Amino acid sequence: MRTTDRTSRAGAAIPPPKRVVVVGAGIVGLSCAWALQERGIEVCVVERHAAGAGSSWQNAGYVSPSMCAPLPEPSVLRYGVSAVLRPSSPVSLLSKTDVRLLGFMAGMVRHCTAARWQRSMATYRELNERVFASYDRQLDGGVEASVTTSDVLTCFARPQESDGFLHELEGIAASGQPVDADLLTGTEARTVEPHLSERVRVAVRVRDQRYLTPSRYVVALARSVRDRGAKILEGHDIGRVDRRGDTVVASGAGGEVEADAAVLAAGAWISGLARPHGVRVRVYGGRGYSFTAPCDGALVRTLYFPVPRVTVAPQEDRARVSSIMEFGSPDAPPRWSRIPSIVRKVNPLMDGVDFAALADQWMGARPLSTDGLPLVGATATPGVFVAGGHGMWGVTLGPLTGLLLAELIATGRAPAPLGALDPCRRC
Ligand SMILES: Cc1cc2nc3c(=O)[nH]c(=O)nc-3n(C[C@H](O)[C@H](O)[C@H](O)COP(=O)(O)OP(=O)(O)OC[C@H]3O[C@@H](n4cnc5c(N)ncnc54)[C@H](O)[C@@H]3O)c2cc1C
Repeated sequence: MRTTDRTSRAGAAIPPPKRVVVVGAGIVGLSCAWALQERGIEVCVVERHAAGAGSSWQNAGYVSPSMCAPLPEPSVLRYGVSAVLRPSSPVSLLSKTDVRLLGFMAGMVRHCTAARWQRSMATYRELNERVFASYDRQLDGGVEASVTTSDVLTCFARPQESDGFLHELEGIAASGQPVDADLLTGTEARTVEPHLSERVRVAVRVRDQRYLTPSRYVVALARSVRDRGAKILEGHDIGRVDRRGDTVVASGAGGEVEADAAVLAAGAWISGLARPHGVRVRVYGGRGYSFTAPCDGALVRTLYFPVPRVTVAPQEDRARVSSIMEFGSPDAPPRWSRIPSIVRKVNPLMDGVDFAALADQWMGARPLSTDGLPLVGATATPGVFVAGGHGMWGVTLGPLTGLLLAELIATGRAPAPLGALDPCRRC
């Protein structure tokens, strides 16, 4: 059931909240806080580590609505089953005996059909068309960060390897979403981005996307939220969120925070907090790794190498390299041995990047939902809302999520794209 007016799922009238507590200071939680402030609502953000400590810190930083699509689809299933069995594969399971993980994988497999992908893509299309405007709103509204417009070059060593990616773009375009793309030879691609090596024989250029340096963006967003009067309580690990009479209480080792409503935006950790509020869609960690390496002259384009599944983004005079999908607990220790395997795969495809001098090694967990759709909206508990499960696309969709959820919380009416993102949907 969807709540479309100011009633709870149980039918009780709820007054508009004056104070909201947001649990989790990643790009999604901070964007919710920022958008609630735009509507005159007081917010307090509670974060168990520091703002940006989760997957929002050093991801690839693509704001790329033309490529933003649901993860579960038939080719992922074909690729994934063989890939998890190969030790050098960029896709793996952290544990083959973790029952929760196996349950999550079984749920995701069920959604890897063409029909479900198309249905989910229709929702993504509705979201994607608003992504740039949502960023412009934050940038015009005082978030002091830079977001750069750039084409994404998707590069291949063999021309036939581009078939799968072109097929994916065709599927996105068939959903009605505009995709402005063209095919380049290796030589043409090198004139656009000189750091590509001679091994690159063909590239697909997706025009006019954006990228940012995620850690800088999150710091700027947190600063803007604080400047507008919010507290961000760092070091507060919230164990549960409950409705007690007219208030909602977020409690944990650091004490209690009371408000009129709560937004659960705890990234890959969200399920433990959200489950008691009727949220059955599983969210699990898709752990990825990144590092930076110095470049001989700045990179000028964002790059994606689909065969080794590596992305490379400019970060001043360095390249920020990201890869790996390791399904597993976000709290298990990082497996740093994955970094040299990324270098071995990307090094031959690039020139003028000093991989021997790499630094800033990082691991973060993408909050993946079983059906590939984010969870944004009301829960079964009056005044408790969820914003999470954005998987591979939380940077692209974070600011928009904040705007949509703030509209629901402030007005009691769910804007249209939230219909399919109901956190209490059957899945
Ligand atoms: C390698 C990699 C590359 C990626 N590249 C891109 C990209 O190019 N473009 C894109 O759009 N997306 C990308 N993503 C995905 C994106 O990073 C995530 O979808 C996004 O950061 C999720 O944001 P979030 O705020 O939901 O979660 P997080 O950033 O993880 O924030 C959740 C926060 O909640 C806090 N928290 C958790 N539990 C509690 C609790 N109980 N109490 C208090 N606080 C709590 C955590 O400490 C954390 O700070 C990438 C991810 C990875 C790993």
